[in-house]
Amino acid sequence: MTPIEIAEKLCTLCQVCVKKCPFDALSMQDGKIVVNEKCTACGICVRTCPEKAMSLRNLPKKAIAKDLKDYKGVWVFIEHSDCKIASVSFELLGEGRKLADKLGVELSAVLLGDATERMAAESASYGADTVLVMNDPLLKNYRTQPYLAGIVQLVQKYKPEIFLFGATTMGRDLAGAVATKLRTGLTADCTALDIEEQTKFLKQTRPAFGGNIMATILTKNHRPQMATVRPRVMKAPLKDAGKKAAIINETIVVSAELLPTMIVDFILQAEQNAPLEDAQIIVSGGKGMGSAKNFDMLHAFASAIGGTVAGSRKASEAGWISAAMQVGQTGHTVRPRIYFACGISGAIQHVVGMQTSDIIIAINKDPHAPIFSVANYGIVGDVLNIIPQMTKIFNEGSGNNESH
Ligand SMILES: Cc1cc2nc3c(=O)[nH]c(=O)nc-3n(C[C@H](O)[C@H](O)[C@H](O)COP(=O)(O)OP(=O)(O)OC[C@H]3O[C@@H](n4cnc5c(N)ncnc54)[C@H](O)[C@@H]3O)c2cc1C
Repeated sequence: MTPIEIAEKLCTLCQVCVKKCPFDALSMQDGKIVVNEKCTACGICVRTCPEKAMSLRNLPKKAIAKDLKDYKGVWVFIEHSDCKIASVSFELLGEGRKLADKLGVELSAVLLGDATERMAAESASYGADTVLVMNDPLLKNYRTQPYLAGIVQLVQKYKPEIFLFGATTMGRDLAGAVATKLRTGLTADCTALDIEEQTKFLKQTRPAFGGNIMATILTKNHRPQMATVRPRVMKAPLKDAGKKAAIINETIVVSAELLPTMIVDFILQAEQNAPLEDAQIIVSGGKGMGSAKNFDMLHAFASAIGGTVAGSRKASEAGWISAAMQVGQTGHTVRPRIYFACGISGAIQHVVGMQTSDIIIAINKDPHAPIFSVANYGIVGDVLNIIPQMTKIFNEGSGNNESH
């Protein structure tokens, strides 16, 4: 049974639906409109039929992905701009490799763009066995509609069982649209992914109920199983420049006239700070810093050690740091080499954003503060005394005594 029902009494065979369908899923056969397996139930034909002759069937959930076993392989969407691949895509290739190995299937990179050759090779060097490429001027810069059409076309042809996207502005936009079109599940902002041993379902773990619990979500009846992961949550694998992948070129079938948006111009926003996600040393302050003025000592310490100042949500809500520098569930996920948590209690919503840092050093006057349970080194004491002392030591060590 197809997802579209056609009331033959109302249908005048005008074929507006055939022309409007972006997926080539409708055609005229033997004097009537026929729906084929490419239908994604997107509803465009329902909305555009002048006679209101088409409707979406309320299919039982299992009827949509008829045979889950038809779906094989792990896919990673390769996000890029100006031909530079976003680091989260490499991180996902690393995670995708582990999942593919557990399932005994191929890992594929999915690359849409208009100058893809070098990026395809780079995707291979980060672990992809196959790179599915759609190369078309329509895909030069990201726009939801053509990328959506291209991805849905690929999924319908190759049927992956798992599809991962970065939880970036682009990835969130695209993954949501793809999951809606394909009528499958999407778990946003996962912090861990794994394969359930018995069923081989993808275990998608993310904070839930305001971060108070970690929920593991399964997509049991629909395919692909889709998840987004924020940058820096997973570790990127080492690059192996010698690794090669099979390149599969596909042609996008969407026509330019069907696209409702065009890019007029790009205006770059001036960057005030280096991106927090890229910082190697982060000096993060919380409510325990006491005031905006006291954050000056964190800035002095950060400049002594080459770090970037960030903070907890309470610090950001108090206006002591900008919201753009907040770490945690509703801020950034970071993975620096060293993370200093200064006067931060260690609430779960903060910890999910920094727990994968290589080394965590916590300073807190409360020896029972939860931050000490994730810290590699803990200093119990008054941060307002300790930070100036540490700054002094580092400045003396580097011969920089300007502050004295
Ligand atoms: C849906 C939701 C999303 C959230 N998202 C985020 C998020 O993205 N990021 C985030 O950080 N929080 C987030 N929160 C808030 C989070 O629950 C905590 O309230 C917050 O992280 C606490 O910030 P804090 O550790 O700075 O302050 P507090 O919890 O008040 O802790 C202050 C700490 O400083 C210590 N201290 C006080 N004075 C000193 C001193 N002189 N020297 C040394 N130590 C001292 C205290 O012992 C205490 O441990 C979220 C909450 C919800 C419900």
